[in-house]
Amino acid sequence: MIQKPRGTKDIYSEEMDIYNYIAKVTFNVMKKYGFNEISTPIFEKSELFLKGVGEDTDIVNKEMYTFDDKGGRSITLRPEGTAGVARAYIEEALEMKMGLPLKLMYNMQVFRYEKVQKGRQRQFTQIGGELFGSPNPYADFEIIKICMEILKELKIDKNIVLKINSLGNKESRENYKKVLAEYSDKNIEKYCVTCQRRRETNILRMLDCKEKECKKLNNDAPKIIDYLTEEDKNHFEELKKYLDTTKLKGEYEVDPYIVRGLDYYNRTVFEILDADKKAILGGGRYDGLIEKLGGKSTEAVGFAFGGERVKDIILEKYTEKQKQELKQKVDYVIVKEYGVENNIYANTVAERLREKGFVVIDELMDKSFKAQMKNANKIGAKKAIIIGKEEVQNGVLTIKDMESGEQIQIDKEEI
Ligand code: AMP
Repeated sequence: MIQKPRGTKDIYSEEMDIYNYIAKVTFNVMKKYGFNEISTPIFEKSELFLKGVGEDTDIVNKEMYTFDDKGGRSITLRPEGTAGVARAYIEEALEMKMGLPLKLMYNMQVFRYEKVQKGRQRQFTQIGGELFGSPNPYADFEIIKICMEILKELKIDKNIVLKINSLGNKESRENYKKVLAEYSDKNIEKYCVTCQRRRETNILRMLDCKEKECKKLNNDAPKIIDYLTEEDKNHFEELKKYLDTTKLKGEYEVDPYIVRGLDYYNRTVFEILDADKKAILGGGRYDGLIEKLGGKSTEAVGFAFGGERVKDIILEKYTEKQKQELKQKVDYVIVKEYGVENNIYANTVAERLREKGFVVIDELMDKSFKAQMKNANKIGAKKAIIIGKEEVQNGVLTIKDMESGEQIQIDKEEI
């Protein structure tokens, strides 16, 4: 048997219903804020991610699915959504076509060659949004608010933690990087090997190291918040002011260790973690990306969450009844003896019901009455329409309520 590649999944039945539900709820929330859906290619030229995500990041260093196509071009399966959407924004001149601020949402498959474990796959779903054109903290606030609203609508907003931080603009970061370098150099041999490398390549990433010893060292490290320029500080303070006017007052944490793994972020960054401290969602501002990719300088802020992580939380938190409600509903199952005359009769009934919007499953096999009833139960049909010789002869239908077992007979024309 040929098996699927490691780190990928087949999705069907209950899980598929949950995915569709997550996407629907998310997009419904985002539509209320004026987001439009965008779809970009699954693969892009590799240079997009080298430039966009950053050459010193884990994603680009270790995790990209990169290959030469038959024309000898270096191609990469997208490891995240933002770079592709930013490329499309520039290439398609979306500023001209759609105006600013522009809000784009997506539901996409992304690919990272990661160490596979629970909640960490090599192909996974990112659902998110990007907002182009506003430099203001009120836009950051709107994005964070949308994230919290999505989790609330999905009924998984209990026991989650919103963490925010500011990485400032270049000047703040350069100031801070110097201080951090001085601090870490004093103890450099105590850091893990990866952090010793990060010290040289991407020093901010030292802050989100999960190694115990590094964490301890980071606890005493200088905090970026204390090195922000006046402008950056005001930007962050304004964002907090807005958050403090909502139910989030007192519910979010400023966490100086949130730096996010990608190079393009500046100023606001944020993450939402579940009760086990696993990241559900991440986002932030990336004012420099569009220009870096060759577009006109355009401020932007966005977010994305992992569909699988949200799905797992739903599977864990939802009651059986809640899960049942997400299932694709079957209104009617037609139970009949297979045969041309019966099929024609059944088809007219099914057609009429489907026109009215009902889900109708007509019998296509040649199963026994008992097997058909069993199947109707299994797929959770609400009613069975029984079509036998007698029904066809008299132009009637026998309708059985699958829950109460009650049976009635009606004229076929009444349906
Ligand atoms: P990131 O772009 O790394 O911040 O990822 C955004 C979100 O995607 C995270 O908060 C996770 O929920 C999810 N995610 C990231 N990496 C993986 C992975 N390898 N497998 C499944 N979900 C992931």
